[in-house]
Amino acid sequence: MKFSEKILSVKPSATLTITSKAKAMKKEGKDVIILAAGEPDHDTPDVIKKAAIKAINDGLTKYTPASGTLSLKKAVCGKLKKENGIDYSTDEIVISNGAKHSIFNALLSLCNEGDEVMIVEPYWVSYPEMVKIAGGVPVALKTSPENGLKLSPETLEKAITEKTKALILNSPSNPSGVVYDRSELEEIAGICADKGVYIISDEIYEHIIYDGKKHVAVASLSEEIKKMTITINGVSKSHSMTGWRIGYMACDKKIADLASTLQGQATSNPCSISQAAAEAALTEDMSSEFGANLEKFTKRRDRLIELLEDEDRISPLKPQGAFYMFCDISACGLDSLTFAKRLLDEKSVAVIPGGPFGDDRFVRISFATDMQTIEEGMRRIKDWVKTL
Ligand code: PMP
Ligand code: GLU
Repeated sequence: MKFSEKILSVKPSATLTITSKAKAMKKEGKDVIILAAGEPDHDTPDVIKKAAIKAINDGLTKYTPASGTLSLKKAVCGKLKKENGIDYSTDEIVISNGAKHSIFNALLSLCNEGDEVMIVEPYWVSYPEMVKIAGGVPVALKTSPENGLKLSPETLEKAITEKTKALILNSPSNPSGVVYDRSELEEIAGICADKGVYIISDEIYEHIIYDGKKHVAVASLSEEIKKMTITINGVSKSHSMTGWRIGYMACDKKIADLASTLQGQATSNPCSISQAAAEAALTEDMSSEFGANLEKFTKRRDRLIELLEDEDRISPLKPQGAFYMFCDISACGLDSLTFAKRLLDEKSVAVIPGGPFGDDRFVRISFATDMQTIEEGMRRIKDWVKTL
């Protein structure tokens, strides 16, 4: 039997694989410290759960339109207008099974075989693999710690060829925590719009931004940029709804129609009950939850930085957004996979190696966990590093 060469070439998601391995070890009774999770540790707010229970009791248990209910699309439009200052109509919105699915739909709708899609290194592990499945060619754009791991306009301009279809931008970024300023986004998105390159703007961490920095939605920058932008967002990280699987894309109607047809033939609608829950998430006032979560994440980030101050061989990049600390471990003399594997085997601490994010000098430490776990994890890591 000859299986699909395309799918055989796809690497499994390191973030999902390591996190589930660590969770399974914990279930077996092992004393594992999980600093790998890509999801907030707090529960989904009650008001959202109640909306889901009501949806079940009201019989909202049937198929919805494949691209999502009109009322959830209206809620998404309301959110994009209120929080991001962008006008979209409901026929420019497609609701999917998580933001990952939205990005996948966007890539499949845009790419022909051999089209190049630029991704900024370090990148979220799924971007290059999704580009490959869509028939595209991922082109990694280098950044350096000296320029704060941000994409420079020069690097972008040099990478654009006649085959370039899109750039995937992710601010705040997983894994680096980088947040782009308005002027930086204007320059980068302006180059793309001028050259006819689409921007897939993954804004899933928009509510987790530190030190008073403000999120700028790429599509809000200008009409020209908006036409070339596919905004990706969802409720997974902002409302702690990773298991509910609701994400969305907002873009030109022609692309939304393609994504909607694709979804109609592939998965049909995302779960009707989750859609009702997401509608509550986007229409209820969540400002106090957002504030409390941000305060919690800020304290953890600052504590992690403090705990690493006296360990020269682990150099963290202070994240401006999201809940990950990308740490340079190259001074430990191990590649990132060996570092993460040995740390899990020898000290039962799970972190994600930087290799699958495109930078083998780093590991990603998640601080989406309680302070006690962070402190114990760092104690074990520091003890272990001394033995290397
Ligand atoms: N984009 C980034 C950068 C992420 O880290 C994640 C995390 N899973 C996603 C998209 C996908 O989110 P979702 O769970 O809504 O599919
Ligand atoms: N995005 C999260 C992470 O990077 C969740 C896992 C995944 O979907 O990859 O860990």
